[in-house]
Amino acid sequence: MMSRNHGIALALVLAFAALGPAGCRGSEGMNTTREAADLSTQPAAASDKVVKSDAEWWTQLTPRQYRVTREKGTEPAFSGKYYKYHADGIYRCVCCGNPLFDSHDKFDSGTGWPSFTRPLAPGRIEEHHDLSLGMDRTEVICSRCGAHLGHVFPDGPAPTGLRYCINSVALDFEARGETATGQQAGAGMNTRGDAGGK
Ligand SMILES: [Zn+2]
Repeated sequence: MMSRNHGIALALVLAFAALGPAGCRGSEGMNTTREAADLSTQPAAASDKVVKSDAEWWTQLTPRQYRVTREKGTEPAFSGKYYKYHADGIYRCVCCGNPLFDSHDKFDSGTGWPSFTRPLAPGRIEEHHDLSLGMDRTEVICSRCGAHLGHVFPDGPAPTGLRYCINSVALDFEARGETATGQQAGAGMNTRGDAGGK
């Protein structure tokens, strides 16, 4: 008896399911909606891209920053504020704040532009073949917002042999421990005696 009723109920469920999407107003439809919502949020969270219109960048940036980062310009040599800057910290993308280079990897190339042997992490930048201006170069851009940063050349010092030649105007320097680690630094002050005693 029970099993026959069960069978009838199952047959009814199957019959409703066979009606197609128009007949689905129950849990099945809700499941579909939930899955779609999950799929729509995942790519945005994973990519972390910053996409803005030219007008938005123009509003946010100074004319010099815009010319270099959004129009692939180059600041005059020895004109930027970071080519002979030696403070300890990191250099972020001036457009989106992406941490790009570490002062530990900075060296004095004598070219008049800030020069680094490598990016802060491989995924922070992208490199593109650039044949503009009659030269064969490798362009370096910010992986998060697409800002033009400069070029990379194979004539750098050890350990990489690379010279990331970057426009000062495309960078924003941040002293080590200034912001993201600010809270940790504050907490560290309480135990400074312990740290100093090591
Ligand atoms: Zn950026």
